[in-house]
Amino acid sequence: MAALFRGSRSICFRWNKHVFGSTRSMASKTPVGFIGLGNMGSPMAKNLIKNGYPVIATDVFPECCKELQDLGAQVVDSPAYVAEKADRIITMLPSSPNVIEVYTGSNGILKKVKKGTLLVDSSTIDPAVAREMAVAAEKMGAVFMDAPVSGGVGAASMAKLTFMVGGLEEEFKAAEELFTCMGANVIYCGQVGTGQAAKLCNNMLLSIGMIGTAETMNLGIRLGLDPKLLAKILNMSSGCCWSSDTYNPVPGVMEGVPSANNYQGGFGTTLMAKDLGLAQNTATNTRTPIPLGSLAHQIYRVMCSRGYANKDFSSVFQFLREEEAQ
Ligand code: NAD
Repeated sequence: MAALFRGSRSICFRWNKHVFGSTRSMASKTPVGFIGLGNMGSPMAKNLIKNGYPVIATDVFPECCKELQDLGAQVVDSPAYVAEKADRIITMLPSSPNVIEVYTGSNGILKKVKKGTLLVDSSTIDPAVAREMAVAAEKMGAVFMDAPVSGGVGAASMAKLTFMVGGLEEEFKAAEELFTCMGANVIYCGQVGTGQAAKLCNNMLLSIGMIGTAETMNLGIRLGLDPKLLAKILNMSSGCCWSSDTYNPVPGVMEGVPSANNYQGGFGTTLMAKDLGLAQNTATNTRTPIPLGSLAHQIYRVMCSRGYANKDFSSVFQFLREEEAQ
């Protein structure tokens, strides 16, 4: 059934091409729905507007939509309204329960979704929930893809995100032209849920690298090394990693990173703890040993309960320093 309607969408695009001469220019005029205008969603939606897409937006906190509204977006009351008006919809929500609510809740997308609509979830959530949403969408004649991103708020603002996409390959093209307005890299990973799998693997490694960098820098400082000198040595040696050379967690080592700004901005400890919880669940379900990932999960959970919840995840350096003083 869904395939029939997906087919009818491509027939419609072909028809447009005959009448208007360009499939892409006509497609680019069709409104895009955007749900979840937080730290990431807001700059992503702005980039769609910059690229000429009319945006229809909603968020549980309407004040999040104000800036976007000033740029010309139409703001509506609920995901169901967005679904009535747009045939491509992007969601950018905190976690799995929010995604379930936005898609299947009483005012959710699936209450009003049009047949053939392309639904793209860019939140980082459980791959199993992504697969459930795909099944629910297909029952309504719509198509669901997971497309979580890597790169933070800065990358979202500069349209430099990396999209990891899971879903039907034949539907990938219709989504790709939207991704390229918001990101620099778009990687097709495979069936629904594989985008989330790639994202969780990346964040697990990122957290392990960050904790390793923080404890290494802390040990070096305690051994009398100047932190900038130690970072320089690591970055020209085999210990070099993204957390040491691009996002160093020690205040004073680098400019323009959260550690230079009391760990404000960046990627929150709460979000990292959430992603590690998801990685832990998937590892348990697949009987995969992740000893370091599990430990990283516990460290970030403890940080959340010790006042670091709203700080950038590189504040694990500060956490370790405060721990040793006790
Ligand atoms: P955020 O909390 O800033 O934004 C989420 C938005 O969703 C909020 O504005 C919230 O009001 C809205 N929302 C929640 N429930 C809703 C509902 N039922 N209906 C409508 N709107 C609703 O989060 P964020 O930092 O933008 O992150 C979004 C997702 O992207 C998360 O899954 C996160 O893990 C992932 N991510 C974040 C970053 C980052 O650096 N912040 C980087 C990569 C990926």
